[in-house]
Amino acid sequence: ENSVTNTESAAGIEQAPAGRATSKAEAPAVIEVRNPGTGELVGTVPAQSADEVAAKIRELRLYQPEWEALGADGRKEWLLKLQDWLIDNTEHLADVLQSETSKPRADALIDPSFGCDLIGYYARRAGGFLTDDHPSPHSPLARVKKLTVTYKPYPVVGVITPWNFPLAMPIMDVIPALAAGAAVILKPSEVTPLSALELARGWAEIGAPPVLAVATGAGETGAAVVGNADYIQFTGSTATGKKIAAACVERLVPYSLELGGKDPAIVLADADIDRAAHGIAFGGMFNAGQVCISVERVYVEAPIYDEFVAKLTANVRALRQGIDGREIAHDVGALANENQVAIVQRHVEEAVAAGAKVLTGGKRTGQGTFFEPTVLVDVDHSMSCISEETFGPTLPVVKVADEAEAVRLANDSIYGLSASVWTGDKERGERVARQLTAGAVNINDVFANLFSYALPMGGWGQSGVGARWGGANGVRKYCRAQAITKPIL
Ligand code: NAD
Repeated sequence: ENSVTNTESAAGIEQAPAGRATSKAEAPAVIEVRNPGTGELVGTVPAQSADEVAAKIRELRLYQPEWEALGADGRKEWLLKLQDWLIDNTEHLADVLQSETSKPRADALIDPSFGCDLIGYYARRAGGFLTDDHPSPHSPLARVKKLTVTYKPYPVVGVITPWNFPLAMPIMDVIPALAAGAAVILKPSEVTPLSALELARGWAEIGAPPVLAVATGAGETGAAVVGNADYIQFTGSTATGKKIAAACVERLVPYSLELGGKDPAIVLADADIDRAAHGIAFGGMFNAGQVCISVERVYVEAPIYDEFVAKLTANVRALRQGIDGREIAHDVGALANENQVAIVQRHVEEAVAAGAKVLTGGKRTGQGTFFEPTVLVDVDHSMSCISEETFGPTLPVVKVADEAEAVRLANDSIYGLSASVWTGDKERGERVARQLTAGAVNINDVFANLFSYALPMGGWGQSGVGARWGGANGVRKYCRAQAITKPIL
């Protein structure tokens, strides 16, 4: 089955035959996709076997040289056609996104718009980024040579994605890889495969060369991608990332891992308290807290603690939670699945049992996988809500004596994805930023680094290896550098 056929069956939102349960012994033939807010079955996709994945990758290898030969300018034309397709299909794509995530409409609209912006950046700049370099020889031994570095794409890049942004996550890594001249096998999360299939449908519909294929399935299908592609770009949990790294080392193929986080927000006493209380409520609750760079813990200097907590709690309490159709009516939707609800519930319950106080929220609500936006205080680093990634709508807040204590506690984590610092003094904010063990720091803001593709996005510690984007590195990472020396005379 090729990606176009998959797309037609899945994007047509085919209903699963009733009672198609599978025994534990054999791999399931189909995966059911459900709207977590309503429980409704919204589609099924095949769980593809290792052989099917290997066959798709062999096919991609046949078409990749032509794609590479188009050059960056030729590829740009196709990428910009895909951008047009995303614009023309935004409302439909948001429908599909909502069907498999139960996100509010406003959040669902972000994926296609973000995708368009990113495509514009890499389609237009990849040519420059991939141009040969000619470093000047530093040594007398090389002075009689002309030095050249060329960038040759890996034939097939495997992109494996999680469920939190079912269209944006694939786009953010598929596009730079395609722009580099590689073919791409995309393995979306089994929780939200429909949006990724839409992307492949769009690629086929504009008539682009068949260098993008989607493999649907769970971990085994992902493992087959890891076992056959030439470069692995993975986004997901730290636990899965470690398995993938081990498999890549075994094959000696390069990889980049964008993993979990436990992002701290530091609110200093000189901060604009209203701005911080709004920004942090948004940073913690956007997408129901299911963002790798969500604010997951807050450290507030003592003099402003009471006022900040009161304002944050009021902002979080004011959020509207529920199921949107095409109307924009809510701020917070459902969690992705029961597993996520269980994690959030455990973190809150363990904290409360150890003496934490819930200022708002704190429990499951409604019919689907909804958890109330929650603010917790009287928490400390012995609690799971502070030490483990929650990936849900919770904001635990800690009072600190001073800046030094805030920095020390912020750095007391196995993770190091991103962080934020809130202060009336931007220079002080930068000084604090430089002391933090995190791949990105936003001053008086959240998520700003995500809209700056010129910056690398990568985690430190258990949050990852390597980075996506970062201007030229965003496409060069998908290439092997070749060094050529040529006599000048
Ligand atoms: P996950 O690790 O469970 O799954 C991610 C993907 O890996 C899925 O497609 C899954 O099918 C696949 N997979 C599972 N086992 C595999 C294996 N053995 N070999 C190959 N592929 C395999 O993660 P999730 O629950 O889907 O996503 C949530 C996590 O993703 C959170 O930890 C979050 O922080 C992280 N995340 C990180 C970033 C980032 O940029 N750093 C962005 C978004 C999400």
